Amino acid sequence: MNVLLLGSGGREHALAWKLAASPLTDQLWCAPGNAGIAQEAVCVPLDIADHRAVIDFCKANKIDFLVVGPEAPLCAGIVDDLEASGIKAFGPSKVAAQLEGSKGFTKDLCREFNIPTAAYERFTAAAPAKDYVRKQGAPIVVKADGLAAGKGVVVAQTIDEALAAIDMMFGGSLGAAGAEVVIEECLIGEEASFFVLCDGAHAIPLGSAQDHKRAFDGDKGPNTGGMGAYSPPPVMTDAISARVMSDIINPTMAGMAKRGHPYKGVLFAGLMITAQGPKLIEYNVRFGDPETQVLMLRMMSDLLPALIAARDGELAHFDVRWYGEAALTVVMAANGYPGSYEKNTVIEGLAEAAQTEGVEIFHAGTRADGDRILAIGGRVLNVTARGKNVAEAQARAYRAVDKIRWPQGFCRRDIGWQAVAREQASRP
Ligand code: AMP
Repeated sequence: MNVLLLGSGGREHALAWKLAASPLTDQLWCAPGNAGIAQEAVCVPLDIADHRAVIDFCKANKIDFLVVGPEAPLCAGIVDDLEASGIKAFGPSKVAAQLEGSKGFTKDLCREFNIPTAAYERFTAAAPAKDYVRKQGAPIVVKADGLAAGKGVVVAQTIDEALAAIDMMFGGSLGAAGAEVVIEECLIGEEASFFVLCDGAHAIPLGSAQDHKRAFDGDKGPNTGGMGAYSPPPVMTDAISARVMSDIINPTMAGMAKRGHPYKGVLFAGLMITAQGPKLIEYNVRFGDPETQVLMLRMMSDLLPALIAARDGELAHFDVRWYGEAALTVVMAANGYPGSYEKNTVIEGLAEAAQTEGVEIFHAGTRADGDRILAIGGRVLNVTARGKNVAEAQARAYRAVDKIRWPQGFCRRDIGWQAVAREQASRP
């Protein structure tokens, strides 16, 4: 088969690595890709926001199946446009992608179908939103309704902080994403990410992970797109996973189908495991980054037939198999990230680092310049390893990190610390 993957991050490199390994894949393309993806796929400089250009490329190159990485093209309806042109594509329709594109849409679905989530109200003006905050008290969470590239959520510890967040969002600094605001109860517990593959009627689990959002060791510093992740997280026991499927995922699938918008694609549930059980914080309509990097290392089955079965509505009897080992990924970012950083710095030692036992290195913001690999983004590399437990995966990942020579980059040295501490505590 000829397969086209859209995207250019570490998530897409991990997907490309798995798709390229499929015996079904004759030719893998990626648009626009990066220097690491170029080892697995032919990278093409397509503007993926230009649906017409993507369709023309698919027709010219006889693409049999298309996989979309990031959320922006999904929310812009690229799957609808491709399917309307007769091209098979993996991912949700534009309406179904509102599970990520509109927080209000998801909260209303939760209310209608009894899905456990934080209590909330939606607002289109500042004054009633502020009255609600004063009535509810703090801590409280203020969210812009639309896609805001991670800047649309304020977990306010005081009423004043919440009022300032309301002014900021309605003040227009987030653009259209802030035209509506959701205010919700602050949930207490441990966070985890849970992934399922959906075919419109059925969902099958794709594993779970925990990530580290803060830039620096000890979970300190500014929020980022994610500085590392590991799987499986100890908090996601079989009992909790079964509850997530029965109380959250299956009612979501049924609700979307009942509304006439069956959900196909990957569904990524951000969860809070509270004392009352798992509650939904938010949905994303695509694979997570950096969670995908660890999930793909743990996946034993071929990814491509699973994605095709989801697209074709045939997951009911589908089975995905996993390695029993743990996996962990360390993100290497440019100094200064998530603020401003230098570009086009040289990374050395990658080939040697990749030889480390159990290790795969997935690229995010990289570009090849002849034989040299240059850093061109904030998050640049995902040094990912498998091991018999999180501690071994962590040791292997850092062994590889230490072979990479990139003075203009940094990483956290404590990815997976909670899981490693739990593993040590439970050792006889
Ligand atoms: P989101 O963009 O919805 O993932 O939110 C970003 C982060 O804000 C989440 O990963 C949580 O850490 C936090 N958060 C969002 N909603 C809540 C909530 N209702 N209670 C507590 N923390 C939340």
